Amino acid sequence: MDRTLAADLARLPELLDATRRAATEALTGLDARPVVPPAAAPPEPEPLPGHGSGAEEALAAFRSRWEPRFSASAGPRYLGFVTGGATPAALAGDWLTATHDQNSNSALDGAGQHLERETVGWLRELFGLSDAHTGTFVSGATQSNTVGLAIAREWLGERAGVSVSEDGVGALGPVRVLSGAPHSSVAKALAVLGLGRASLVRVPTLPGREAVDPAALDRALADTPGPAVVVANAGTVNTVDFDDLRAVDALRPRHDFWLHTDAAFGAFAALSPDHAHLAAGLDASDSVCVDLHKWLNVPYDSAVQFTRRRDLQARVFQNSAAYLGPLGPDPDLVHLTPENSHRLRALAAWFTLRAYGREGHREIVERDIDCARALGAALEQDPALRLLAPVRLNVVCFTLAEAPTPERLAALREAVGAEVFLTPTVYAGTPALRAAFSNWRTTRADALRVAEALRTAAKELV
Ligand SMILES: *Cc1c(COP(=O)(O)O)cnc(C)c1O
Repeated sequence: MDRTLAADLARLPELLDATRRAATEALTGLDARPVVPPAAAPPEPEPLPGHGSGAEEALAAFRSRWEPRFSASAGPRYLGFVTGGATPAALAGDWLTATHDQNSNSALDGAGQHLERETVGWLRELFGLSDAHTGTFVSGATQSNTVGLAIAREWLGERAGVSVSEDGVGALGPVRVLSGAPHSSVAKALAVLGLGRASLVRVPTLPGREAVDPAALDRALADTPGPAVVVANAGTVNTVDFDDLRAVDALRPRHDFWLHTDAAFGAFAALSPDHAHLAAGLDASDSVCVDLHKWLNVPYDSAVQFTRRRDLQARVFQNSAAYLGPLGPDPDLVHLTPENSHRLRALAAWFTLRAYGREGHREIVERDIDCARALGAALEQDPALRLLAPVRLNVVCFTLAEAPTPERLAALREAVGAEVFLTPTVYAGTPALRAAFSNWRTTRADALRVAEALRTAAKELV
């Protein structure tokens, strides 16, 4: 064994303690440091060490060269994109995931796979899905959408009497994927799947909304020759609008379509009795995408993919090899996603669900919604700022009342950068900013602090 490596092995408990101390310092300092450090050039690249100097020095180098450049994205006022943090239990679960380093993809060594199935069962219950849905962990909502649409593609083949997984996408005729306000990752998934970005057909949304117009969807389906794929959106990133999933499902008797629902963070509305109606009808979907590194507050990367047609999923992703088990009625995870080796990413989700339960996660979701409403209400009082949509759930989409140019919005973002991280967007043609609340640490005091920072900066903007 390399001498440095052997020395680290001998000192493993001390090294883990040192790492734990570094993590504790980072987490206790989270609230005090700038949400996004001032932009700085990356450090000069270091040469690859010939002989290393061990984990302790690597830790010191990380802490001096890289850590100060990191944002406080795990903290309470990082409101860009849709960003979750990591609950204490989720963090513990993630540490132990690396510690045990399981490759949880088959029954040959099956405990990890069983743990994932238990966790999927809990998630299914959390989101009000019936046990007609099976689920698989994947790395994020993009991957979850990709897997869901791969199953949809196989279903189109089944309808046409061909096997896409055997004969390729060329065996299908032209495909139409209909959606009102799809997330950008849907187009990416279609590119990956060989269906092409051009297969995505935008269906008109309701006036002033991002929710699909069911009557327009009805007409678009009537215009589609043969079976179609519908991507329903349960929580859009700009205004957290929801398609009426029941109305979409009600079109089924008249049209033949696969219903994939992108509920990346909108599925969490189900946890809040006052908001559960937004995602009502989710269970009727043939496939469902839910992100977990957003509102479940587990570390990156984690999402789940649900489907009612695991048989088709296994047809697409089966990985036959002499040393892997047969497919059977309950296929191993190796046969269900683009991955073969499979990180036990379910463990962080298992930990946080086991630690805080449905009520603990309901409280996080409701507190984040309350924060979004508090910020929305404060910005509404500010003559310099303007809301672009009502706060339906956990996102505030707003802009400058005067001259909302991308440049002025960038200046505003920068002026508040130490206090809050926001991301730019364009909504209905208007450049805007978004504040998305999905971190378990955020409180109403944070929301009011953000409102105050925006009020001051907007006033001083020239
Ligand atoms: C975040 C998000 C995605 C993509 O998720 P990743 O985890 O970044 O891959 C897809 N759809 C919606 C609605 C999202 O909010």
